[in-house]
Amino acid sequence: MLSQVKRNEFSYRAPRGTSDILPREQGYWRYVEERAHAICQLHGYQRIETPIFEDTRLFVRSIGEETDIVAKEMYSFPDRSGAMMTLRPEGTAPVCRVYIEHGMHNLPQPVRLYYIAPIFRYERPQAGRYRQHQQFGFEAIGDGNPALDAEVIDMAWQFYHSLGLRGLWLKLNSIGCSSCRPSYLESLKGYYAERIERLCPDCRRRLVQNPLRLLDCKKESCVDIKESAPRSIDHLCPRCQDHFQSVEKYLALLDLPFNVDHRLVRGLDYYTRTVFEIQPQGEEGAQSTLGGGGRYDDLIEQLGGKPTPAVGFAAGVERIILNLKRQNIAAPVPPQPDVFISYLGEEAKDKAIEYGSRLRREGIGAILASSGRSLKAQLRQANALGMSYAIIIGEEELGEGKVTLRDMVSGEQRQMSFEDAMKSLKEKQ
Ligand code: AMP
Repeated sequence: MLSQVKRNEFSYRAPRGTSDILPREQGYWRYVEERAHAICQLHGYQRIETPIFEDTRLFVRSIGEETDIVAKEMYSFPDRSGAMMTLRPEGTAPVCRVYIEHGMHNLPQPVRLYYIAPIFRYERPQAGRYRQHQQFGFEAIGDGNPALDAEVIDMAWQFYHSLGLRGLWLKLNSIGCSSCRPSYLESLKGYYAERIERLCPDCRRRLVQNPLRLLDCKKESCVDIKESAPRSIDHLCPRCQDHFQSVEKYLALLDLPFNVDHRLVRGLDYYTRTVFEIQPQGEEGAQSTLGGGGRYDDLIEQLGGKPTPAVGFAAGVERIILNLKRQNIAAPVPPQPDVFISYLGEEAKDKAIEYGSRLRREGIGAILASSGRSLKAQLRQANALGMSYAIIIGEEELGEGKVTLRDMVSGEQRQMSFEDAMKSLKEKQ
């Protein structure tokens, strides 16, 4: 009885923060993914796919123990052997693992790779923020030249542009390297320590555990403090300064309209030097960022590889689709079968099955009517599905060994042999 009650009370739904991508949405997904493949092909990036889960230590080591992702958001679980696994919470660390594991330092450098993959983070769901989302990301590993930063930033910009998105902001900053950042962090901590009374509880914790993230606080009370905080670009060592100037120079050369944002730090610990984000203009919320990336020159070494500079970028597909809709950009409708085959009776059904298969073998998409309906009802179904043509096999057609080919738009129709109908449909393709 109890199980009966429980069963009735429970209605199955997609888990909170996840969504089903229904057929009517697929056009957008396909559009974004095709643009992603195209931009990567243009720039010589090759696709890579990694497992959906990895050893938890990979993410803790790379993203950083004090980050929100590692501290609060990972889907981690012991597998049946007791080893701790984590559903991929970001795409860069797995790509770096692959680079090391498969000896990619032996390939011509930089190695240019891209992925389109689901990402899992236990976040508070809201518009534009989900617990499972899809990221398109690309990484150029094995070259520290600022020209590569510019290549990655340009590629990200051109990707959005190729989708038709306009009115975007490109924000840029440099957060220095392991030699100049410590002195910057000291200055930042000193500044915030003097104002500790006014900080929100999260920022008081950040001050001790992850001071760079102080600059990321969105709370009203901390925004003013953030405005006048010391700037990382004033504390760069000469090499980081040179690097940043070169990136700025190349971006200007490429006509990319960037703004230097001194508060831009990003949420993962592995970044060094260049960081950047792309946002829709006028929307500064944490949920609006369309994509971001930067350099991570120390990460491969931290994960056990040789010292290897690298730079990358990742974009959230759901947010792109949200912005496409906001900007009234329609995605091309994916192609669907053209021909509907309607029939009456068992003998005609055999023919319909045979003809349907023969059409498809010739590359002509076809759908069979469902059995047991009148021809009129079947043609109504063809209309509702938006089919261009119908092949009708009724009693008369069966008797004559022919079919009727009907143009569903004009209503014109003619009897002919199936072979002629197929020929005519082929010509219309
Ligand atoms: P990140 O790995 O945090 O730099 O995220 C890269 C991009 O993925 C962001 O700019 C967003 O477009 C997207 N993104 C990150 N987290 C989420 C999320 N929880 N839901 C939807 N999209 C997200």
